[in-house]
Amino acid sequence: MNTQLTMTIGGQATSSAASIPVIDPATGEVFAQAPDASQAQLDEAVAAARHAFAPWSATPLNERRAILGNVAGVLMTHLDTLATLLTQEQGKPLARAKEEIMISAHWCAEVAKLTPETITLEDTPDTLVQVRRVPLGVVGAIVPWNFPVALAFFKIAPALLTGNTVVLKPSPNTPLTALKLGELLRDVLPPGVLNVISGGDALGPWLSSHPGIDKISFTGSTATGRKVMASASATLKRLTLELGGNDAAIVMPDVDVDAIAPVLFWGAFANSAQFCLAIKRLYIHEDIYDKLADALAKLARQVRVGPGANPESELGPVQNQALFERLKGLVADCQSHGWRLLAGGQPISTNGYFFPATLVDNPPDSSRIVQEEPFGPILPLLRFRAIDEVIQRANHSPYGLGGSVWCRDQSLALSIAQRLQTGTVWVNEIHTLSPHKPMAGHKQSGLGVEQGIEGMLAYTQPQTISLKRSST
Ligand code: NAD
Repeated sequence: MNTQLTMTIGGQATSSAASIPVIDPATGEVFAQAPDASQAQLDEAVAAARHAFAPWSATPLNERRAILGNVAGVLMTHLDTLATLLTQEQGKPLARAKEEIMISAHWCAEVAKLTPETITLEDTPDTLVQVRRVPLGVVGAIVPWNFPVALAFFKIAPALLTGNTVVLKPSPNTPLTALKLGELLRDVLPPGVLNVISGGDALGPWLSSHPGIDKISFTGSTATGRKVMASASATLKRLTLELGGNDAAIVMPDVDVDAIAPVLFWGAFANSAQFCLAIKRLYIHEDIYDKLADALAKLARQVRVGPGANPESELGPVQNQALFERLKGLVADCQSHGWRLLAGGQPISTNGYFFPATLVDNPPDSSRIVQEEPFGPILPLLRFRAIDEVIQRANHSPYGLGGSVWCRDQSLALSIAQRLQTGTVWVNEIHTLSPHKPMAGHKQSGLGVEQGIEGMLAYTQPQTISLKRSST
């Protein structure tokens, strides 16, 4: 497979003296090497982005919109190549990898329609006061391995639209699709506007503390987010942090259990549950607990887990060995306390990191599986009786990313939704993400906003110009 992908610095192909191994999670074997950028190469990437900033930010907005449209076109033209690479390094089924590339193209096309408006506060014969939105400069975009392409474009699209330049750093676990994108976009974007560099564990801290970076847009775990925030303080970098979650879903007794069971199942297990906004705590009213638990267990036993390249697979392996081991540890913890597993639990014995959809029957709120973000296919089902009780339990978390309410009575559902302390709440649907809906992690799930007008404006700062019209 591809071992020759290069970094993109100032529009040029750049290799490195050292390399990092890339593992196919479906086999556990190294199948490629990626460049391991040196600190000097990071400096070059930041310098290239800085050099490109003045002309790019002066490029008329409509031209930048058109170029983002061309980026979307490149993604679609190379859909099969990119998706194949994504499946091989990330593990997800090929159809889902294609979906991720298409979502990224859609994001570019939709974000290109947004406008960082200039607001006129006063326009009189004496005075003109306007607030413009000006770009920040060089953005360091740091992304995790669960949706390596979509999460990169959630940052690249608004950053470029608003006139910033970008240094993109993918996760060491999934560097290849990002490197390939850098290569494909060399002819589409002016040199230095998008730089892509890969590397090991040292590269992230170098980037987030680099004095030449004006903003860090980071998606990853809360623990790393804290470190990024600390290292950004020296030069007062602007920050957007999209961090971990432990999303609760609350299922009221009036739902149609058979109809919602598959929706809840995929809300929890899509992308092998390696999804910040996956349902991670499923609170089920006691009147329907047994029926819904049975329906979910049936789905968990039926779902086909296998290599992403196999068209039969509905769920791929989990992405890396550390996560695979952690999931085994969480199951062992449940078993040691005597909590019943309704499905799954045993790793599927092949060479890759295949873990079955696993359901835990009503463990206590204090258990690790309820308190921690598993970030893999283990879901606790939790029985509740009263609305106040379940809202209190759902909110009892340091996280506040997303949540969902499932209830036929819409006014009751909305009243519950409004009491959840999370940035997004879905009611009778889930994961309807959009480039136009702001997503803001509350509590320790994040800082700032991605998506929508507010997310786009987070790549700008206001500049107030106050003009006295009468001559002095
Ligand atoms: P991670 O925090 O380990 O790594 C994320 C990225 O940060 C990687 O590119 C990594 O190389 C880099 N990094 C690591 N240490 C760094 C440091 N000190 N300074 C700068 N960069 C550093 O996260 P992960 O394991 O790759 O991803 C899983 C986590 O991401 C989960 O907690 C999940 O909930 C979260 N996530 C959040 C969202 C969201 O939008 N809120 C989306 C996807 C994933």
